[in-house]
Amino acid sequence: MAKKLKNYINGEWVDSASADVRDILNPATGELLSQVPMSTRDETNAAVEAAAKAYPEWRNTPPVARSRFLHRMIPLLEERFNELSQVQTREHGKTIDESRGESRRAIEMMETASGIPSLMQGNLLEDIASGIDEYSVNQPMGVFSCIAPFNFPLMVPLWFLPFAIACGNTFVVKSSPRTPMSQVELFKAFDEANLPPGVVNLVSGDVDSADALMTHPKMEGVTFVGSTPVARAVYKKCGDMGKRVIAQGGAKNYVVIMPDAMIDQAMVSLVASFYGNAGQRCLAASNLIVLGDDKFHREFVDKFTRMAQAIKVGNGLDESVQMGPLQNKASKERVVGYIEKGLAEGAKLTLDGRQVRIDPSLSPDCFLMPSVFENVSPDMTIAREEIFGPVASVLRAGSLDEAIDIIHANPYGNAASIFTQNGKAARRFQHDVVAGNVGVNIGIVAPMSFFPFGGRKDSFFGVVHGQGRDVIRFFTEPKVVITRWF
Ligand code: NAD
Repeated sequence: MAKKLKNYINGEWVDSASADVRDILNPATGELLSQVPMSTRDETNAAVEAAAKAYPEWRNTPPVARSRFLHRMIPLLEERFNELSQVQTREHGKTIDESRGESRRAIEMMETASGIPSLMQGNLLEDIASGIDEYSVNQPMGVFSCIAPFNFPLMVPLWFLPFAIACGNTFVVKSSPRTPMSQVELFKAFDEANLPPGVVNLVSGDVDSADALMTHPKMEGVTFVGSTPVARAVYKKCGDMGKRVIAQGGAKNYVVIMPDAMIDQAMVSLVASFYGNAGQRCLAASNLIVLGDDKFHREFVDKFTRMAQAIKVGNGLDESVQMGPLQNKASKERVVGYIEKGLAEGAKLTLDGRQVRIDPSLSPDCFLMPSVFENVSPDMTIAREEIFGPVASVLRAGSLDEAIDIIHANPYGNAASIFTQNGKAARRFQHDVVAGNVGVNIGIVAPMSFFPFGGRKDSFFGVVHGQGRDVIRFFTEPKVVITRWF
């Protein structure tokens, strides 16, 4: 029998009584890995109550002592590095190397947040008037939470949690109902680090559980990462409830290829930016805009397509595999639907990823190979909507102005990159493009833990972003004190 996952509430592993229990399958093999209960509202509320109870003492634990708990987590995560990476690959399908990258990022979040005694300092000005001083301190607020997506099951909640607790808040993670196992592995390390009960809590679940977090009166704020329609709904709901919120949404990312780009040097990272994680990254490139004459265009597209075709697809646990499956059957069907729409709207399918060739011992249910569309115009569905799969669409533009106009016509604004050797064009691009993350000769613009991570337009709802100093601002409230001594 598959293991049923437990919640972690108030420092204890507890069973959920929910009747809604879902199977977690390895998308590469179809193997049943575990079963995940969709926790009830009451169970989720219990996690919030535990976090609220833990808050007063945790808030009064000196920042340097809170930081020590995060320091303690780092070797615990290093010890579990392989195990954590394997769980991600098994439940998500991504390659083991991609999972290792995610585990490394997760540890970096702990490292950065552990600098909290420096990071959350306030400031002071003597003599705002004679003999009167004014200072501001950044104080924690209470309980915060994260509603997580499926595609980075270990890392995404850590864009928030370590910073929140380092600041003196307490926290509840609601894991993705599709990939809940990585968080369970992470929380085993929290358990071993002996954090005081209730400081961090984990519930598995879906909409009911998320709603309980957003509506609980003791919840100060919610962090959300997921698709744009849900991000928008979460932003609205939290606004109605008077809670602060960071809501990171979906994406449609562009790469502009200038005729002077160093194509041969760039190609490996360029191709990886479309097909890494089987295209299931909010920073994945999706549309290629190629400038230049017909000859340059043809050579570029042929090279790109040949490299896409050569990608080895299979079980992510096999070290030689370069692309794993989609995370589930529905994701694959969704991507196939987009490929069919692209064909129906007149784009040319130069590389058809529906012709799946994988080791016969694997389950074909979730696999697709890389696809490339040519002759794509900006108004086609495949150019406008988030596909979230291994599909590249090639568009053309006559100038950088036109390329930027195409990018701006799209409602998303998560990431955009330019490949060029022309500093003026690169400077213009990074200055003008409305996107949260801009790359120059970089395919995946993933901000490090000490920089903010967020998008623009329909890719982000809120003010400050995840990670770095932004998120410390989110998890604290400045208090101003003015003093005079007679
Ligand atoms: P999703 O929106 O389907 O689900 C995300 C989370 O929201 C899950 O935990 C789910 O249980 C919960 N949820 C679903 N409906 C809800 C509702 N009505 N109210 C409250 N919560 C609800 O997203 P997903 O498919 O898990 O993740 C993929 C999406 O996430 C893609 O669109 C991707 O671009 C986006 N993403 C964005 C970023 C970013 O930084 N902007 C990062 C990673 C993923």
